[in-house]
Amino acid sequence: ATSTAQNSSTPIVLTIAGSDSGGGAGIQADIKAISATGGYACSVITVITAQNTLGVSAIFPIPLEHIEKQLDAVFSDLNVVAVKVGMLADCDIIKLVAAKIRQYRPAFLVVDPVMIATSGDLLLKAYSISTLKSELLPLADLITPNLPEAAELISSDVPTNKEGMEKMIGKLRKLKFNALLLKGGHLIDDENSNDLLILPNHVEQLNAIRINTLNTHGTGCTLSSAIASYLAQGNDLLRAVQLGKDYISQAIAHADELDVGQGHGPVNH
Ligand code: PLP
Repeated sequence: ATSTAQNSSTPIVLTIAGSDSGGGAGIQADIKAISATGGYACSVITVITAQNTLGVSAIFPIPLEHIEKQLDAVFSDLNVVAVKVGMLADCDIIKLVAAKIRQYRPAFLVVDPVMIATSGDLLLKAYSISTLKSELLPLADLITPNLPEAAELISSDVPTNKEGMEKMIGKLRKLKFNALLLKGGHLIDDENSNDLLILPNHVEQLNAIRINTLNTHGTGCTLSSAIASYLAQGNDLLRAVQLGKDYISQAIAHADELDVGQGHGPVNH
């Protein structure tokens, strides 16, 4: 490169996540979203899934030493402004990633607490949730659970309506985090897809129209990456979340124009 990252207007955004061979979620969605929203994407791969739009058939965790080598290679050379963390699979990977975040201190950290795929496949070992809560969530500027993930974090039932979603706020506030985007996309009795941005002193409601499509594979990965990219470009948290939500709404609205696989197809970047 002829210019250093510091002089460039394209900020570097790192995704630490799992690979989806089908190209719809994980690292592949992250790189598409970061690139489309004006960031430079780099990646540290934690696991390689064998996956398509029908589900996950196998998960191959990358050896811990090699995840560490990827992290050191990226952080020691690239001026990473924002990090998005996705699938971490188990406690050892969570602890390693948390230690490296504390060591290299990127300006922004967005954690998508990936646990279960749309297809129902388990992406984080159940006993790892307490490690995620104690080691990684407190370091994040923003965490982005969907309703099933938020319910796991506070050991509650998954709400099915807006009132149930709002009732989660009190318990969620007992977790250590800076800001939490509670995503309402899984509600079934709603014409809208409204999210709650839980901030230290208040809650912002972010509204979007629900788009009817089966093709929502990779929505969580895409949203969290877009937000990390917008934060890296100097937007404040609320603005970055609003821009990220606009981006994912567009990607879902255009999903049916793609013809990828026989199951839950990917969103369209
Ligand atoms: N596969 C990988 C590697 C992921 O990181 C994720 C992220 O959530 C998924 C699958 C699940 O994606 P979705 O729930 O959108 O199908």
